[in-house]
Amino acid sequence: MATQDFCPEKKISIFYPPQRVLMGPGPSDTHPRVLSAMSRPTLGHLDPVFTDMMEELKSLMRYAFQTTNLLTFPVSGPGSVGMEMCFVNMIEPGDKVIVCRNGVFGGRMVENVERHGGVAVIVDDKWGEPVDPQKVEDALKKNPDSKIVAFVHAETSTGVQSDAKTLSDLAKRYNCLTIMDTVTSLGGTPIYIDGWGIDAVYSGSQKCLSCPPGLSPVSFSERVVNLVKNRKHKVQSWFMDINLLLGYWGSSRTYHHTAPTNALYGLHEALLMLYEEGLEHSWARHLRNHKALKAGLQTLGIEYVVAEPYRLPQLNAVHVPVGVDEKEVRRRLLADFNMEIGAGLGDFAGKIWRFGLMGTSSRVENVVFCLNALEVVLADMGMKVERGAAEVAAHQTYAANPMTL
Ligand SMILES: *Cc1c(COP(=O)(O)O)cnc(C)c1O
Repeated sequence: MATQDFCPEKKISIFYPPQRVLMGPGPSDTHPRVLSAMSRPTLGHLDPVFTDMMEELKSLMRYAFQTTNLLTFPVSGPGSVGMEMCFVNMIEPGDKVIVCRNGVFGGRMVENVERHGGVAVIVDDKWGEPVDPQKVEDALKKNPDSKIVAFVHAETSTGVQSDAKTLSDLAKRYNCLTIMDTVTSLGGTPIYIDGWGIDAVYSGSQKCLSCPPGLSPVSFSERVVNLVKNRKHKVQSWFMDINLLLGYWGSSRTYHHTAPTNALYGLHEALLMLYEEGLEHSWARHLRNHKALKAGLQTLGIEYVVAEPYRLPQLNAVHVPVGVDEKEVRRRLLADFNMEIGAGLGDFAGKIWRFGLMGTSSRVENVVFCLNALEVVLADMGMKVERGAAEVAAHQTYAANPMTL
């Protein structure tokens, strides 16, 4: 057999992906500044010029998380690796962890606890509802030997936000550490890691940070650093052991793994853009675009899954109108308009759509384009639609909600 025969289906000589508009649950659009930063010359991961950039990157990350935690750095891996890093380092065999589960990602936390030898005490809430602090307190009372409370701040599978400050206060009252998932909230809605007293937090590059997927910003309090230093058993994962990673991301700069240098230029640029815009401005922008999209969707009779006070502005989960083939709508948006929106996951599969307005995807042009494209597709599929009404409603909402920051 010739060597080429091992790759018989080869047909692409150069890969040019189409330019989509990404308005699903992530990834969201990458900002051109970030793409451009990533195309700059590759440096060695121990090059002093690169390590200077790493220091600034950590500092920009502290700004985004609103923390002074020294141990704040990007994990080389997607959000799921950041998640696993928190659990694998903080759990020793037999440790009890209260896990709040109100969607897909809370379910993954349970998996993490169990796979790392912990005992998960599950606090379930209905999909589309926030974590109920009363249930968490009941679980803490019943399980006074619990060590950690873990919860998802912004549950991307349902579009709901939970009250992080209240959950963190509760955990403290019962002597527990906290692990919080901020993959979808970082940059999109307010996060105060120090203000809320969160111990371990992880996020992702591809949601509200306008960066491609593949990196996970994490941050750990002194309490976590001490816990990990004083573990009885070695951390089960070599790659994710914080004690070893500190050799690279800490002060000594010794080789641990080859950091994805160009990807890190991209994250640096994305966080720089967030810093230049200002967190408050970014949060307000996400909220404003959400309000306009909502006004437009309402003209189409489309209803939200989540009650108003708990809605995530960056992830609009809505019920598919009765009688509409939801898959066909998504297919047409992609084929005819280059627009990606998200389907429902798990219990919500086939029942909801998820419109993401995250990072650089959260802008006026996208809201208007999305509403118009949706009107065209729905009208074409036989739904009664007043063409143009959604855009008019969006513009009225923009006019009534000027950016004041
Ligand atoms: C997307 C997401 C993750 C997983 O991130 P990946 O980068 O896909 O691994 C975890 N938690 C939440 C809430 C998410 O939205």
